[in-house]
Amino acid sequence: MFADLILKNGKIVTIDDKESIAEAVAVKYGRIIEVGSNDDVKDYIGSDTKVIDLKGRTVTPGLIDSHCHMTSTGARKYVSVELSEESGIHSIADIQKRLAERAKVTPKGEWIYGANEDDSKLTDKRHPTRWDLDEASLDHPITVTTRGGHFHVANSKAFEMANVSKDTPDPAGGMFERDPVTGELTGGVHEKATRIITPVRPTPTREQAYKGAKQQLLDCAAAGLTCVHDSIGQSQIRAINDLRNKGELAIRIRIDVGKDHWPDLEKVGLFQGFGDDWVRITAIKFFWDGAISARTAAVTEPYLHRPDFYGVLGTTPELAMEELEEAYKEGYRIVTHANGDAAIALYCDVMEVLQKKYPRKDPRNRDIHCTVVNPKLIARLKKLDILPTIFGPYAYYHGDKLLPAFGEERLEWMFAARSFLDAGIKVSAHSDYGAGPMPPLMGIHALVNRVTKAGKPIGQSQRISVMEALKLYTINAAYHAFDEDKLGSLEVGKLADFTVYGKDILTVPTMELIDVPIDMTIVDGKIVYERADA
Ligand SMILES: [Zn+2]
Repeated sequence: MFADLILKNGKIVTIDDKESIAEAVAVKYGRIIEVGSNDDVKDYIGSDTKVIDLKGRTVTPGLIDSHCHMTSTGARKYVSVELSEESGIHSIADIQKRLAERAKVTPKGEWIYGANEDDSKLTDKRHPTRWDLDEASLDHPITVTTRGGHFHVANSKAFEMANVSKDTPDPAGGMFERDPVTGELTGGVHEKATRIITPVRPTPTREQAYKGAKQQLLDCAAAGLTCVHDSIGQSQIRAINDLRNKGELAIRIRIDVGKDHWPDLEKVGLFQGFGDDWVRITAIKFFWDGAISARTAAVTEPYLHRPDFYGVLGTTPELAMEELEEAYKEGYRIVTHANGDAAIALYCDVMEVLQKKYPRKDPRNRDIHCTVVNPKLIARLKKLDILPTIFGPYAYYHGDKLLPAFGEERLEWMFAARSFLDAGIKVSAHSDYGAGPMPPLMGIHALVNRVTKAGKPIGQSQRISVMEALKLYTINAAYHAFDEDKLGSLEVGKLADFTVYGKDILTVPTMELIDVPIDMTIVDGKIVYERADA
């Protein structure tokens, strides 16, 4: 038998039980048929075999992001204008320019939605005003949503179309910002007042959802990802099916369906496990407490910068029990966003009851984020077999703003990779993209170094090795989706997903991990990304 694909002359990090390093690998029909030396694979080389000479480069199993919102974020790019610092926005002038560009290609009178504006990242150190936005267009209604989503800025056309003037009173639970002298609207729209300005939320068309998902998954492949656990709903599931049917799906998807959609799944008899090695439904997702980046996770000790604030818990013990029981008794696997220690403790309380009431072998329920922990919680998670997936990049990416809110001591118990591994828990790591940055190498960098963007070490006791960080992004993530027999390590019989690096990820100075280039990404034995100048 001849192979379809051979990678040789490489440093192949297999992530098998012995952490063995091989030199070559052979692939047939999308599966690995040999892992070993160049000599071991030479008899598999036929006239039709594609042979890639790695020239000493390092290969790992394809990287897996175990929680994110890839396809919905991809679609959002088509319905809104990205205004984050990462997208190249540094001033109000940049915002005006980008909105004006969108106005040029948008019919007059149609909405333009700016997203992810962050005044702290602008050189102006303030939000744009109504008049700033008017300079981008007077013919299009424009709203700009700030990071976190609770505060918006609208232009004059938006107020005009909503029939809101300086004589309009503030609605209950909302507020329009006004000039203190003239009372004129200045653009700022708070909370429930937003619904008056933009009664309809932007939703992508089928075409936009498909195009957005397609580009996003290609971007994932370029970052070294071969599989993502995507948290999604109806329009994204359709987009993934569209991609699949057109033969354009770049990487594998594991679907955690949002809890609002599960009654629909029930109606048509769709259940977790439905799907195949490319696309599969894996769980029902619930959402409980606040965000780490917004410093609103539900914690038991108050935030240091707001001494009376314990975060936001969006559920009660009764409601939490009710909604989880409804899904769990039907056999669904549960994944719950429980970020702060108060939310995690509640999750443990509920699952303790449910697992007794509806005992299940190997349940693998998950805690998404599971950020702020302590030894007692770790012991409970272990006992209940709840699998944590933690933020990969945050100690680096958000570390500087987390420090004043959580403090050094608590950061020793956040993104607690070391403690979970030491407890024998198969922890995995994720991006939460678009809420967080996507590159898995930024995650590996952060987990290994635990140094903030500004260079400050935080929570150093939680550092792990590069090999361990790789496990979080490969075999452990595979385990989280019952994929450990197919994905996550390079062994005979497993699916042929590989990430090829431009530098040796195992020996490069660890502070350079974030800059290791991805040279090639292979899914199911096919190259889905290749760096142009590699
Ligand atoms: Zn999320």
